[in-house]
Amino acid sequence: MMGDQEKTLEENRGKCICEPCPTYNECMRADESLLFCVAGRSATCTFEKKGCICPTCPVTKALGLKKAYYCIKGSEQEQH
Ligand code: SF4
Ligand code: SF4
Repeated sequence: MMGDQEKTLEENRGKCICEPCPTYNECMRADESLLFCVAGRSATCTFEKKGCICPTCPVTKALGLKKAYYCIKGSEQEQH
């Protein structure tokens, strides 16, 4: 059985638009890290804030997300 988080990851990973974001860097690309809003912040990469395109992402709309910079600050839940 898949857990709720795992299911959400599976369903939304393909919709994550982090890749063209100016903050998304080589380290994240190498890790194939995506969907930080659900999975949480990147454990191994460090970043500089260069803009966040999360607000225009279909997952933001689908999950009713209200925050941004999940790759740095952690998932929507962690930011509460
Ligand atoms: S809201 Fe941001 S982290 Fe979450 S799926 Fe969209 S682009 Fe990726
Ligand atoms: S979470 Fe936001 S800032 Fe981080 S890579 Fe994705 S779109 Fe860019």
